[in-house]
Amino acid sequence: MTLNFIAGEWTTAADAVPNVNPSDTNDILGDYAHASLLDTERAIDAASRAFRNWSRSSIQTRHDCLNAIATEILSRKEELGRLLSREEGKTLLEGIGEVTRAGQIFQFFAGECVRVAGEKVPSVRPGVEVEITREPLGVIGLITPWNFPIAIPAWKIAPALAYGNTVLFKPAELVPGSAHKLAEIIARSGVPSGVFNLVMGRGSIIGEAMLKSSKIAAISFTGSVATGKHVAQACTASDPMKKVQLEMGGKNPMVVLDDAEIDVAVECAVNSSFFSTGQRCTASSRLIVTDGIRDAFVAAMTKRMTSLVVDDACKAGTNIGPVVDQRQLDQDLRYIRLGQDEGARLVSGGELLKRDTPGFYLSPALFTEVDNRMRIAREEIFGPVAMVIRAKNYEEALEIANDTPFGLSSGICTTSLKHASHFKRNAQAGMIMVNLPTAGVDYHVPFGGTKGSSYGPREQGRYAAEFYTTVKTSYSFEGTG
Ligand code: ADP
Repeated sequence: MTLNFIAGEWTTAADAVPNVNPSDTNDILGDYAHASLLDTERAIDAASRAFRNWSRSSIQTRHDCLNAIATEILSRKEELGRLLSREEGKTLLEGIGEVTRAGQIFQFFAGECVRVAGEKVPSVRPGVEVEITREPLGVIGLITPWNFPIAIPAWKIAPALAYGNTVLFKPAELVPGSAHKLAEIIARSGVPSGVFNLVMGRGSIIGEAMLKSSKIAAISFTGSVATGKHVAQACTASDPMKKVQLEMGGKNPMVVLDDAEIDVAVECAVNSSFFSTGQRCTASSRLIVTDGIRDAFVAAMTKRMTSLVVDDACKAGTNIGPVVDQRQLDQDLRYIRLGQDEGARLVSGGELLKRDTPGFYLSPALFTEVDNRMRIAREEIFGPVAMVIRAKNYEEALEIANDTPFGLSSGICTTSLKHASHFKRNAQAGMIMVNLPTAGVDYHVPFGGTKGSSYGPREQGRYAAEFYTTVKTSYSFEGTG
């Protein structure tokens, strides 16, 4: 059985749960510990005790730890990528890509450790100098989802540690394997006892205890809107109030204009809608297509979709792995039925598939005749389900694109500079993509959204400092001479 990592030690738990491969439900990756409330409290205490020394550790020490983590992750990317694909169901190429990304993130923040700077500015009062510095917050609770089992933990853990905070990491129940490997690597990196703690298990037990603890200064959460709202409310209700950062859902539009290069548009749409089995918060499910290109686009899309191979995530040649579990598959199928009940036309896919091994295989689905007011166009499905929504022209397409409760990512395919520039200014989202898929971002620049998608400061790149540090302003009288 795998263990939790608390106060520098691997500790057994009373409970363990099997980790099932969604490509082959007969393949169990192992039994993974579920922490108790007591384990969680011990981890929080350990992180709290470790904060004083870690927050005062030299920036070289922190750099060296993060750099060691990065180096080991990158040197084992094939092995870790295979484990990730086996437990989450994204293809091997995507799994290895995600592990590589995690390594790059630790590398980036290793560099940031030695680049933290302050400002010294004159005061409006004679003889007074003002200094503005950044300081760590304390213990940070990290609650992560299952769809990026190593990259999302990396982009929270790396800045938390880089800026001198200590960490309690609670991964999603479905992907403890990647979390455990990451914790093993962090444990070996030279990070002192208690600075990083892994507690695996249920959100309703461990997550809740984290939200209530007075020793946790901040929570960074990625997951569903409903849980995110609850997390924010609990963070402001706790004493003292916690800083909170939320990344939640999306219903990302991809606009395709008459002047788009059709091959580019189809590749962007296929990637955005179906890669990683559509299980990305930046996935695009609303393909908003202007009248002049609509029929050609639908024809090219359905043709391209028949060439996509849905199979075991680790098999060579697979383009789309299985859905992550039965619960998510049921949700996808419910939405596919709902779309038909709402009057949309299912023109391709949406069927359960049989493969050599028992798994949650679903063919990518495309709807047409969709009205943006339908529930399938408003609610996040989180599966390989996309829909074509007609627009008369660019102006109407932009209006439909923005008519959503979410605002994470928004894309456009066009060869018109005028429309691309206008779209970048007027699309209501945190990330805008021109002639690129809505998913797939860089690690050195901010990630996050507007409206119902995100809350609090951005993640990633140098902007991560906004969340993982607090700003101190010091005044001193230095004389008028
Ligand atoms: P999903 O529906 O994709 O599983 P969730 O928002 O439920 O998304 O889960 C995201 C993360 O939040 C997971 O790590 C989960 O364990 C955790 N979580 C779930 N419920 C709670 C809760 N009440 N308090 C804190 N964390 C929670």
